[in-house]
Amino acid sequence: MFKWFGKVNYTPYTKVSDFAQYLKDGHLMGSRCKKCGATSFPPRADCGACMSGDFEFYELSGKGKLHTFTKIVAAPTGFEDVTPYIVGVVDLEEGGKALAWFGDTIPEEGIQIGMEVQMVPRIFEELEEIKVYYSLEQPGTTWAKTDSR
Ligand SMILES: [Zn+2]
Repeated sequence: MFKWFGKVNYTPYTKVSDFAQYLKDGHLMGSRCKKCGATSFPPRADCGACMSGDFEFYELSGKGKLHTFTKIVAAPTGFEDVTPYIVGVVDLEEGGKALAWFGDTIPEEGIQIGMEVQMVPRIFEELEEIKVYYSLEQPGTTWAKTDSR
């Protein structure tokens, strides 16, 4: 289990582990296939389009549009203590989709599919393991790697 991501995560530790280091340095990265140009977020080492393992990182603005959202009342393992919460899927401006929690700048009644959002990484660096999640905020919300609520 890869302890750097989230409370419970089954993502294996792979070639894309530099992603965590970029996040620590304040950069949100996706991957771009060097062979066919397909992009992915979160980054993946092996291209979903052409299966090439040759990729490069590129930086994302975090801007996007809300694709869909849902309120979680019955939470999956590891998240029982934080219900209820609202998560959304965002279509990122540079390509790719991401799942993120709604942050404080967007009230529940203001959530609309298609609205512009800013995806903000939240990193808990005071912990021994790096923990990160993403929150969806009003466009223009800036983030800093030292931000931890
Ligand atoms: Zn490819």
